[in-house]
Amino acid sequence: MLTHGFTLDEKGMKMSKSLGNTVSPADVTKQYGADILRLWVAQSDYTADLRIGPEILKGTADGYRRLRNTMRFLLGSLADFSEADRVEAADMPELERWVLHRLAELDQAVREGYDAYDFQGVFQSVFTFATVELSAFYFDIRKDALYCDGDTARRRAARTVLDLLFHRLTTWLAPILVFTMEEVWLERNPGDAASVHLTDIPETPQAWRDEDLAAKWSAIRRVRRVVTAALEVARRDKVIGASLEAAPVVHVRDPETLAALKSVNFEDLCITSAIYLTNDPSPAEAFRLPEIDGVGVVFEAADGEKCQRCWKILPDVGTHAHPGVCARCDAALA
Ligand SMILES: [Zn+2]
Repeated sequence: MLTHGFTLDEKGMKMSKSLGNTVSPADVTKQYGADILRLWVAQSDYTADLRIGPEILKGTADGYRRLRNTMRFLLGSLADFSEADRVEAADMPELERWVLHRLAELDQAVREGYDAYDFQGVFQSVFTFATVELSAFYFDIRKDALYCDGDTARRRAARTVLDLLFHRLTTWLAPILVFTMEEVWLERNPGDAASVHLTDIPETPQAWRDEDLAAKWSAIRRVRRVVTAALEVARRDKVIGASLEAAPVVHVRDPETLAALKSVNFEDLCITSAIYLTNDPSPAEAFRLPEIDGVGVVFEAADGEKCQRCWKILPDVGTHAHPGVCARCDAALA
């Protein structure tokens, strides 16, 4: 048996008709839809008194919209995905294997959370993953490969991961966002017999866990935070409009971190046209973040012309068969 606290208004006052602070579930459903009301329930800590009101519901609806954008990106990118595109985990780039590692971690957290009726914990873990690690990191980086690559191994690996994400995010969230996840599911699985609610949460191989890779990528993401913050300053000062106009020099003191950065396409991760890595000491004018020691970034503008297809600024643009594009885009067009 489960008991929960009282439902109070936004200020923590008891609801009463005479105060006029009552919130009717029927009104919430009419204004936002039933999934927002369900989401408010799932996000609430039911071991204490619960609060609800217009401002709280606005926040819930905002979170819902961000999650909906994540799902919409998955649907758009997977529109013509087929089994022939599927790639084995062992053949994927490290960035994709890092996502699989996170999926294996989350799979355990989601199952344990639901077993313990910790809906708040389940939703918070999945929501943070979807908005911070997927939308603002993984999707942002892979948009370039998804939109501009030809049929490359990198693009196939990315789409395989998006398909694996699709099956997990929909089934993990189906008990909370009942209508939305069904809508997302039917978009890829049409037919009268199909339903996400008749579909089990897929098994997630624990072999996807890779603690060494996770530690390496945690170091890479720390350096990336300094680069993106430095580019944000350049954008604010109107030095650049987009990060692809930059080719920053990144000074890294720790040799192990530097080797990790050199082993990946760090310019792709930072969404710049080029990047220069060095262990020369940072000059005085370098941009630093106080919480990240041993990393300095010096802004440089990217050299070359803007590719009309992928918008990277590269020295070889204009030297290929198709006018105004870079080598990669020239090959994709061919
Ligand atoms: Zn290009």
